[in-house]
Amino acid sequence: MIRIHDKHFVPFLSASQIDSAVAKLAQEIADDVDEEVPIFIGVLNGSFMFVSDLMKHYHKPCELSFIKLSSYQGTTSTGTINELIGLGVEVKNRTVIVIEDIVDTGNTLVVLKKLFEDKEVKALKIATLFFKPEAYIKDIPIDYIGMEIPNKFIVGYGLDYDEQGRNLAEVYQLATENTYNPINSNTMINIVLFGKPGAGKGTQAEFLKDQYNLVHISTGDVFRYNLKNNTELGQQAKAFMDRGDLVPDALTISMLQAEVEKNAGATGFLFDGFPRTIAQAEALDKFLDSKGWGVTATIALEANDEILIQRLLERGKTSGRADDQDESKIRNRYDEYNEKTAPLIEYYTQKDLFYSVNGIGTIEEVTRRLSTIIDDFIDK
Ligand code: AMP
Repeated sequence: MIRIHDKHFVPFLSASQIDSAVAKLAQEIADDVDEEVPIFIGVLNGSFMFVSDLMKHYHKPCELSFIKLSSYQGTTSTGTINELIGLGVEVKNRTVIVIEDIVDTGNTLVVLKKLFEDKEVKALKIATLFFKPEAYIKDIPIDYIGMEIPNKFIVGYGLDYDEQGRNLAEVYQLATENTYNPINSNTMINIVLFGKPGAGKGTQAEFLKDQYNLVHISTGDVFRYNLKNNTELGQQAKAFMDRGDLVPDALTISMLQAEVEKNAGATGFLFDGFPRTIAQAEALDKFLDSKGWGVTATIALEANDEILIQRLLERGKTSGRADDQDESKIRNRYDEYNEKTAPLIEYYTQKDLFYSVNGIGTIEEVTRRLSTIIDDFIDK
């Protein structure tokens, strides 16, 4: 833990984690540019360390310049941009790659976009080391993202808290009283929320992720997102989902791993709807193990099938989910659960990682039951 002015900060990203994200991003940009020499434009002050390291990892011809804008006072964004200090190069008809240390609300990007459009650039690309998806309220596409991070105030590696902390080689996150930060205790917490369709996993995940500072990954949500956007993954999963069948393991496992990799700075994950087969559970163990992590606990939300089926049919009236509207599809999802997912109870029980709570009650009651279990293993 470190102190800057009146606040305490806890370690969030090591220098080597940052360096791998920077190297990956430099490679992505290099793979994208053709013969044309781009102009990189760093946005000062925050980007100075990032620009320097990015340039060391970027091996193609390029030009470099800096501009200065300021939108932060203290730990909350004021949303106002105070200042622009000049761009000493001609950018007309050139490809400009703006380099930001962090994008949160996106207010700065709006100003930058306007500024460069007025200067008639040929193409404008945005590269940022850190991106806070939960804070982003604009629709300007971001071309290159080093890491997605939770919506927490961070310092270090160029980023400041009231002008201090920029010189730190690592990134620190504001320590809050209520936020459990596994990095404090050197453990990552990875929770598998387990239960039949309709048991309330998604609802509870929304509360638990904030309470314990976890990244929530719902494989059902990721599949639905891909379906809606008609991606290749969505097309591959569609027929299975429409029938209420499980999507094949290989597809699901690689998708899950990609979701975890997208959140390099996470201090824990809440897996919702994954694993659903023994093969997925084994793959998850192997994958987490390769990172020096593991499943901390699997918690099941228990409820009677008939109550759940009624809940899903009710949800289907408003959710628009085809798989919630047809009782035979719902029953098929339960058959899939009983045949392929239920054996996981034994799998995790043998590892002494299986807990279960009564999933019937008000949302708050069920959250309290889950928190009691989680607090218990955090204290151990
Ligand atoms: P859910 O929203 O969790 O009920 O998931 C909706 C549908 O997505 C499921 O019926 C499956 O077709 C698919 N799906 C979600 N998670 C998985 C998983 N771990 N393995 C296989 N299929 C999944």
